[in-house]
Amino acid sequence: MKEKNLTTKITVYSYNELKPEDKNLVELAREATKSSYSPYSHFCVGSSLLLDNGVWIKGANQENAAFAGICAERSACYNAGANYPGVGIKKIGIAAFTDGDFVEDPAAPCGVCRQALVEFEKNAGHPIEVFLVGRDKVYRIESVAALLPLTFTEF
Ligand SMILES: [Zn+2]
Repeated sequence: MKEKNLTTKITVYSYNELKPEDKNLVELAREATKSSYSPYSHFCVGSSLLLDNGVWIKGANQENAAFAGICAERSACYNAGANYPGVGIKKIGIAAFTDGDFVEDPAAPCGVCRQALVEFEKNAGHPIEVFLVGRDKVYRIESVAALLPLTFTEF
């Protein structure tokens, strides 16, 4: 028998430690929470993307009574896929706002979004940097694959 350990490295930054480009990513994700339509969960999630062509894109969660809405991350990625087909995603930022403030501990993408994002990452041909935005701290993960070990990509 053998055991394998899977690890994910998370670098924790304060906002002021971020590079200007990453500060912009964080601000756009926070701004995007205002576009959330979440009358059921009251959990407003915003997402921001920087594409390989320098374009910035925002997404926000969109709910409905059938509970068949879409998360902020896929809202942004599908926007990118629809409007800039074939252009890779360089970075993604994710922020969440509820009960009158941004969440203290950064929210992470759900499993469905991780699967979608890992396929965008595979198609981009390079890692997508992930920035999870909390009230006073930002988690940086070097790739989406690091958030989805043992990734299912062959079918
Ligand atoms: Zn999701």
